[in-house]
Amino acid sequence: MHEKQEMIRVEKLNKSFGDLHVLKDIDMTVNESDVVVLVGASGSGKSTLLRCLNFLEIKNSGKIIIEGEEIESDTHNLNEVRQRVGMVFQHFNLFPHKTVLGNVIEAPTQVKGIRKEDAIKAGKTLLDKVGLGDKYDVYPSTLSGGQKQRVAIARALAMKPDVMLFDEPTSALDPELVGEVLATMKELAEEGMTMVVVTHEMGFAREVGDWVIYMHDGKIVEFGHPNDVFDNPKEKRTQEFLGSIL
Ligand code: ADP
Ligand code: MG
Repeated sequence: MHEKQEMIRVEKLNKSFGDLHVLKDIDMTVNESDVVVLVGASGSGKSTLLRCLNFLEIKNSGKIIIEGEEIESDTHNLNEVRQRVGMVFQHFNLFPHKTVLGNVIEAPTQVKGIRKEDAIKAGKTLLDKVGLGDKYDVYPSTLSGGQKQRVAIARALAMKPDVMLFDEPTSALDPELVGEVLATMKELAEEGMTMVVVTHEMGFAREVGDWVIYMHDGKIVEFGHPNDVFDNPKEKRTQEFLGSIL
């Protein structure tokens, strides 16, 4: 059996905003095809951690190693790194003046320099895959939240990332639309995509997650398999947090 490749490794990562120390000595490893679910109370630093992994925020200290290569914001082309580490946000951030297909082909054509015909072909395949094969030419404003989020997923996938980061992808959705987005993410996980997912959807975490990380006040308090963490949390703070949301 081949050993899983290490996709992301973080060592002693620290991030502050002014005097506010948000990430405190974070260590984590994400291996190929792993689905790592990140949970924790609001303000515990989950989004900041994802944003550091995607270099939307620049760390103060520590190491971020992507696919074996330590990335430094002053010496690396961060746009190139972001192509390998895609991100999906709570608020879909689609381009409102572009069609669904236009959204999906924008970065491949503009950033990667893919020929438009090729980008269109690949974009249509991705939209078919997320169940939006009949929506190529409509504008985002005509879509439901769940459909918009599936466009956002297709758009991120269009850059052929090696890792996908999801920051509360279903938190802005009406409850009846959550399932379709989770189903799309589950499919992606089953195809072997490496994923780090911030979510409060504990059913998804249990069913799809390989690992769960519980963050509290900028630190990783607990890490383990979902069933172990959820049924047998070792730390009192994890128990209290789970008690508050389950
Ligand atoms: P979570 O996603 O777990 O809710 P965040 O990572 O968004 O937590 O935020 C962690 C802390 O960092 C919060 O106190 C938040 O107010 C603060 N914070 C996040 N982004 C910024 C920023 N750009 N400037 C200043 N403070 C920030
Ligand atoms: Mg957040």
